[in-house]
Amino acid sequence: MSKDIQVTIWNEYVHEKEYEEVKEFYPEKFRQKHAASLKEQHQSIQQIYPRGIHHSLAEKLKKGKTISVQTATLHDKEQGLTEEILDSTDVLMWWGHVAHAKVKDKYVERVYERVMEGMGLIPLHSAHASKIFRKLCGTHSQKLKWREDGQKERLWVIAPGHPIVDGIGECIELESTEMYGEHFDIPDPDKIIFISWFEGGEVFRSGCCYYRGAGKIFYFRPGHEEFPIYENDEIIKVLKNAVHWAAPVNGPQIKYGEVEARE
Ligand code: ZN
Repeated sequence: MSKDIQVTIWNEYVHEKEYEEVKEFYPEKFRQKHAASLKEQHQSIQQIYPRGIHHSLAEKLKKGKTISVQTATLHDKEQGLTEEILDSTDVLMWWGHVAHAKVKDKYVERVYERVMEGMGLIPLHSAHASKIFRKLCGTHSQKLKWREDGQKERLWVIAPGHPIVDGIGECIELESTEMYGEHFDIPDPDKIIFISWFEGGEVFRSGCCYYRGAGKIFYFRPGHEEFPIYENDEIIKVLKNAVHWAAPVNGPQIKYGEVEARE
C-alpha cells in the first residue's frame, strides 16, 4: 500500500483576518489608496472563507484517500516554512497576494532548495508574483493584466492527455471571477494545460507546468479571494490531480563530479 501524498497548504492569510489585525501587511501606498474599502473587503471575504482559504482548501483536498493535508501561514513560526514542515511536505500549495514582500528571502531560499530536490510546488492565482515562483522561473517580471469585474471565465483544456486534466471536460466554466490577461510575463512553460477565455475579450495561460531540478511546478490561475472559486468541484479535481502529478518520485540519487570508468 503506497503512503498518502503529504500536502502543505501555505496561505499568507491576510484578507480573511480582521483588517485591524493585519493592516501592516499591506504595502503603505496600497493601504492609503484603498483605506475606505479595505475593511468591507475583509468582511466579505470572511464570509466566503471564514477560517481562511487554506482551511477551506484543506477540507476539500482531504476528501479522498490518497492525500494528507496540513496548513501553514505567514503568521506562524518561521513564517510557516520551518524545516519540520518542509520535511513532511511532498507538495507545497501556495496562496499569496498582498504580502509577497513580507516573506523572508532565507525561507524562500529554503523552499527553493526543496523544490530542486524534488518537492512539488503549486502556486495559486496571485502567487504568480510570489518570490518563490519568480525565483524558480528566472528573471522575468511575472506581470500580467487584471480586472476585477466578476465576469465569466472559460478554462479550455489544451493538453487532453495530461494527468492534471484526468476526469475534466473540454472546459471549466466559472460564472464570476477576476480577469487575468496576456501578456503574462513568464518564461515559456514546459507544458501549457489550460488557456482561459474571458468575457471581456482577454485570454490567459491559466495552467502552466515547469520542471526545475527534480521538482515539478504547476501554476494554476483560478482562486481570487472575492469569489468562491475553491467551492467549485472541477477546480478541486484539477488541484487533486496536480498534487499527484507534482508529487516527488523515488528517482536516483545523482552523484556529480569526477567518476571512475564503469568498464
Ligand atoms: Zn485576485
